[in-house]
Amino acid sequence: MENNCTYIDFDGVILDSEERMLCRKSEVGFINHNNSDEFIKYFEYTNTHPEEWDYILRNAVPINNSVEILQELEKMKKNISILTKIHTLLEMKMKVEIIRNEINLSCPIIFVPPNIAKHQVIIPNHQLLIDDSEKNIIKWNENGGVGYIFDSSLKNDEKNKVRSLEFLLKG
Ligand SMILES: [Mg+2]
Repeated sequence: MENNCTYIDFDGVILDSEERMLCRKSEVGFINHNNSDEFIKYFEYTNTHPEEWDYILRNAVPINNSVEILQELEKMKKNISILTKIHTLLEMKMKVEIIRNEINLSCPIIFVPPNIAKHQVIIPNHQLLIDDSEKNIIKWNENGGVGYIFDSSLKNDEKNKVRSLEFLLKG
């Protein structure tokens, strides 16, 4: 159990970048967030407009003190890693810059490419994942992990659902 790591999603858990991406996607005319082709087209668009990821990530705001809590967990020498989906290499590069230079975290960053699930990159093996995507959590749990859904709008933590990363400070 000593070597167990806690994996933390980035978009929608650490920073509000998910919301900002959807907003930006609408602004350039891709308004249907249920259409997967629109996402493919928008991510293609970002490859020729690198300012998109700069806008989405550089001005994103921490959710329910996530950054402060992670900095504290690092000081406590807790075994944590960021496990984050990426759609393009520009997004990957910008995430590293933001995590290292803006929010100043030094934990490992593990990137999950398009069309691959998080449990394929990290074999869950009873380890904890905190993610705002219910789909990711269901798959993580089905593959032997312990998943908590992150929902910043909750008033209080519930069974397997948390409103912030604060509970990790007590663990
Ligand atoms: Mg997310």
